[in-house]
Amino acid sequence: MAGNTIVVFDFDKTIIECDSDNWVVDELGATDLFNQLLPTMPWNSLMDRMMKELHDQGKTTEDIVEVLKRTPLHPRVVPAIKAAHALGCDLRIVSDANLFFIETILEHLGLREYFSEINTNPSYVDEQGRLRILPFHDFNKCSHGCTTGTCPPNMCKGVIIERIQDSAAAEGNKRIIYLGDGAGDYCPSLKLREGDFVMPRKNFPVWDLISKNPLLIKAKIHEWTDGEELEKILLSLIETISTDEQAAFTPADFKMPSNIAVSALPKVLPVQQ
Ligand SMILES: [Mg+2]
Ligand SMILES: [Zn+2]
Repeated sequence: MAGNTIVVFDFDKTIIECDSDNWVVDELGATDLFNQLLPTMPWNSLMDRMMKELHDQGKTTEDIVEVLKRTPLHPRVVPAIKAAHALGCDLRIVSDANLFFIETILEHLGLREYFSEINTNPSYVDEQGRLRILPFHDFNKCSHGCTTGTCPPNMCKGVIIERIQDSAAAEGNKRIIYLGDGAGDYCPSLKLREGDFVMPRKNFPVWDLISKNPLLIKAKIHEWTDGEELEKILLSLIETISTDEQAAFTPADFKMPSNIAVSALPKVLPVQQ
């Protein structure tokens, strides 16, 4: 069992194939307005504004739910998550999407209970039935203080990973496997330690950033391209960690006692033909 392994997933373009914010905006026909407003405000604030625009146009949260249920994803991602969970890993999400989108999709896929924690931007439906999306970190009050330069104002995933590392340290020797694709996944990758693994999606922003100077990363780097590779690599890394764990419990100097004659060992019985 891989009970000492924490697998941290980004959500957009890692678990699902697209960006859930763009997916909802595009599918509900608000792409032009989104692109028009994007240069004027932070992404997270813009998503809250887009939910207002969609609500004003008569789009309901049920309409949003229907769109979310159609979110494209690779067919091997759900089996990969279920297998990692069955192997005893603690699965968590760290995402700059929002709780409403993520929970709706995970519940639709029957995956909600596989994750012990979802770290994302909070959201709620107000009394008018409009979906509100808030920043994970209230940047209007103060900054999250990260100077990496790749974290949006509303969320530093590095701060979240440090919190996970601190709480894990209290429970013993935990190792982290981190999967992501975006620039926001770079900061947490820098926080990983020796013995951890980072799985950057190949040719995506986090992979570009890591590739510029891989020596800055203490974790082992394993790139992946699609859900099939995600499954294969993730499960092999979980196996590696659990083999290391077993090796740690086996005395390294254990050898077959040399005074036992080979003839004393049980012989393989010939199979009756
Ligand atoms: Mg992503
Ligand atoms: Zn950061």
